[in-house]
Amino acid sequence: MKRISILSLMLVTLLLIGCNVKKQPVDLVLKNGTIYTENEKNPKAEAVAVKDGKIVFVGTNKEIENYIGEKTKVNDLQGKTVLPSFIDSHTHPGLVAMTSGNAELAKYQLPTTSKKDTYAYLRKIAKENPNLPYLMIGTWSNPLWGVKGPDRKEIDNIFPKTVVILLDSSGHSYWLNTAALNAFGINEKTPDLKEGLSFFVKDKNGRKTGWVKEFALLPYLANMPQPGPEHVAPAIEQFLNALAKNGVSTVMDAGSFNAEETMFKAVQMLEKQGKLPVRYEATHHLYMPSQLKDAVNKVLEYRKLYGGKLLTFNTIKIHFDGVNEINTAAVLEDFANEPGNKGGMLYNEEELKNLMLESAKHNINIHLHTVGDRSTRTALNAMEQAQKEYGKKLPVELTLSHLEVVNSADMPRFKKLGVHANFTPHWLGGTVFKGSDVALGEHRFAHNQPVGEVWRAGANVTFSSDVVSMPEAYRANPFLGIQMGATRQDPKLGRNTPVFGQKSDRVSVKDMVKGYTINNAVQMAMQNEIGSIEAGKSADFVVIPSDIFTMDVYDISKIKPTAVYFKGKKQELK
Ligand SMILES: [Zn+2]
Repeated sequence: MKRISILSLMLVTLLLIGCNVKKQPVDLVLKNGTIYTENEKNPKAEAVAVKDGKIVFVGTNKEIENYIGEKTKVNDLQGKTVLPSFIDSHTHPGLVAMTSGNAELAKYQLPTTSKKDTYAYLRKIAKENPNLPYLMIGTWSNPLWGVKGPDRKEIDNIFPKTVVILLDSSGHSYWLNTAALNAFGINEKTPDLKEGLSFFVKDKNGRKTGWVKEFALLPYLANMPQPGPEHVAPAIEQFLNALAKNGVSTVMDAGSFNAEETMFKAVQMLEKQGKLPVRYEATHHLYMPSQLKDAVNKVLEYRKLYGGKLLTFNTIKIHFDGVNEINTAAVLEDFANEPGNKGGMLYNEEELKNLMLESAKHNINIHLHTVGDRSTRTALNAMEQAQKEYGKKLPVELTLSHLEVVNSADMPRFKKLGVHANFTPHWLGGTVFKGSDVALGEHRFAHNQPVGEVWRAGANVTFSSDVVSMPEAYRANPFLGIQMGATRQDPKLGRNTPVFGQKSDRVSVKDMVKGYTINNAVQMAMQNEIGSIEAGKSADFVVIPSDIFTMDVYDISKIKPTAVYFKGKKQELK
């Protein structure tokens, strides 16, 4: 009798202890879901528990009962699918905001059908606005003017006095008239910013034609009046809200050129007003040779001035080469339509290596725009040299973005050197970058943006939107990106449209989601905080009505999240 009572007492005590250990009421429980965690050790779950904005448990409906207390908010997902929130690791809220305020850009759109149509349209604008002091509109089509490009003479007779700046279809060059060159004080002696990359195109007599490639004009535009932070903040907020509604909880701003500080002030204002719906990793944007020496200090300075809880400064972004459409990308072999030209790079291997070693002292990451195979090789070489000198793995996450042409010999080096490969899936329908086919020639163009090949070579492959203007901002939707990366077809052309590039460069929906979540977190060195649904990480989820991994891939771009959680709170967005 005595023995039995002691035993039963022990049992009851054990049970009580057990219950006390397990019963841990939390703030929020999501249950009855199909939860894809992107955590390899526990890939699928039914329920998740959240406390103080963080995930405390991921498991079954039964197990989650132990986390439900009187005050716990319990959301029954009714079978819906949950993914970790997306990370957009290369986008441009600042550029989107700046373009949204330009009424002329919205009102006038140059035709891209022929040169004749372009001139006729410009004549129409001149007739309608006889006393126009200034005109900046887009976009003329590069392929129509070929390698030689346009000439200022062609617009001088339409606009003899108006300062005219015409943006091109690549987004990487301007066409100016003589009045514009004069207004900026640009004459035949004005030096170029960087040979082969950012420069004033000259005719065979050495005369500047008015075609200005890449960033050569930016130092002059900097003197023009710019809108203040309070003017751009609403447009930034609008763009970030749209991203957040599509399930994005973290962005990396890949640069706003000479307007960056205005943008940081605007984002800081939004954070202080509680209007910032995402984590915002800002970057210091390098596009001029002269910026190199102060790059690291500038990041530290911005961090001090504008850094907050959501707005952070850990990255240097470099516009390392140009683009194929205007023959400014750094390529290993000459451009097919311009023998003797291999494009240009902002810095050389040695300069880049030194920047990496300097960045390593402060754990600052480096994100490069590398379109051509020569810039990619140079960056990989720089990383290899930096690691050799450092003696071990460098505490710098290096990301190469765009990767339109990658030489096969360099594919395995991403994994070997721990360099991240970032692609922009909404470009994979072949509807953008008119002119890069003739610049690259058949073979290189056919292997354009080799996502699958780079993935199979073992790289940490990541995805982002890289949108630069308000009219294309809707394409920053990760669901559009996931569908396009998996199909290499633009949804607007339908499922029967030819696949862009190599069919083998399509990747699975599973890999696309990985590239938008955990892989992006690794790229940004934030994998302990975000990127997957696992205990200890921020409670950032996106809830969608159907199972993204089993549904028709051609319907993925139409997905509208039913709820988005950021730090454990359901987003209520305008
Ligand atoms: Zn970009």
